[in-house]
Amino acid sequence: VEAYLDNIKTFGHLNAFNEVFADEALLLAQDVDLKIQQGTAGRLAGMVIAIKDNICYKGHQVTASSKILEGFTSIFSSTVVERLLAEDVIIIGRCNCDEFAMGGSNETSYLGPVKNFADETRVSGGSSGGSAVAVQAGMCHAALGTDTGGSVRQPAAFCGVIGLKPTYGRVSRYGLIAYASSFDQAGPITKSIEDAALLLEIISGADERDATVADLPVPAYSDDLNFTGKKRIAYISEALSSNGVDVQQKDLLNAYIERLRQEGHVVEPVSFDLMDYVVPTYYILTTAEASSNLARYDGVHYGYRSPNATDLESTYKRSRSEGFGKEVKRRIMLGTFVLSAGYYDAYYAKAQKIRRMIRDRTNDILNQYDFILIPTSPTPAFEIGEQIKDPVVRYLADIFTVQASLAGIPAISLPLGNNTEGLPLALQLLTKSFAESDLLKFSKYIL
Ligand code: GLN
Repeated sequence: VEAYLDNIKTFGHLNAFNEVFADEALLLAQDVDLKIQQGTAGRLAGMVIAIKDNICYKGHQVTASSKILEGFTSIFSSTVVERLLAEDVIIIGRCNCDEFAMGGSNETSYLGPVKNFADETRVSGGSSGGSAVAVQAGMCHAALGTDTGGSVRQPAAFCGVIGLKPTYGRVSRYGLIAYASSFDQAGPITKSIEDAALLLEIISGADERDATVADLPVPAYSDDLNFTGKKRIAYISEALSSNGVDVQQKDLLNAYIERLRQEGHVVEPVSFDLMDYVVPTYYILTTAEASSNLARYDGVHYGYRSPNATDLESTYKRSRSEGFGKEVKRRIMLGTFVLSAGYYDAYYAKAQKIRRMIRDRTNDILNQYDFILIPTSPTPAFEIGEQIKDPVVRYLADIFTVQASLAGIPAISLPLGNNTEGLPLALQLLTKSFAESDLLKFSKYIL
């Protein structure tokens, strides 16, 4: 804990943490030490982790990096936090993120962007940017993020670490601050597959407080990570032929494809003809869900209340106008629009149908192949300030992560090394629902 606290101090300017629980972590470490001596310690004893600041932890503030939650303290812990603590994890702090997890660069945070440790002029990625940089720069051993459309995988890719989004319904969402409820999943950000497997194993499984969690047994992912045999892998040809994908990123993927072929796996191109629809479908559905989920921030129940309010209506209006940032407001308006009576069928209902097509077509591919291979992001980490002014450019950069989110299937981002400028590059593997075990084994083999 002391070593991590030292690093947190040294790298404070990266802005990865919204709050550090220094004294508490040191006390917890003493407790865990005692338990280890007594032989009663849990499976995560001594593992120091950080959590994204949209995951509730009883008695601690949680802000989703938004002014509107300023000063709000959780009165209960999320299921994921409870399960980790039950295994004696030490939580060292809460990490910066895009406001309400809306973004892919951590620049929408009310508390400012997170700098990438590989190049401080560049973004961390997002929305779990603080969690990824905390792991990247050794400010904790591992971290939890949440992934709605790439927020665990893309910052992991930008920071050269591993990010896993579980199957929708593998992990309880109880106590996560909701962005888009039919997409959100918590997932681990780690430096090793072993840690990703162990953390997933502990946070997964049925929860009476979240009816969307599948009542399926949780495999002992971490017990057996040995890969044997040959696999069939499809790569999305559109992703490798697109001009929008960075050349070094493409070269590296091609080199991996070659390597896998040489090692006896079948690696074939497939066309995913719905590729042009994944980003629009994702943004219609997630903004719709967000507009509904964020209705609860009314200046009365949580956090910030405008000091300029004079009556109930102005309490709502002013608290929301002053409390939410620009990107969050944009999404609430978009979501309200696509759900409005006159446009519901044209946008929301249509997008639901296309989501089903995307899921079915993705599963068709996965009935013929074990994995889908695509980049995590079209480019490595970009400059801070470069994309934030143009939301459409930013949204389009989510093209490779939202397919798995729309389909509800698990996906992992794996670090592949650095480009010539020293920036991390990554590849992403997708697989069938609840096949995390195979995904982890094959990931370990690739790395
Ligand atoms: N960048 C995507 C968005 O802004 C993904 C965010 C997320 O996964 N939370 O919606």
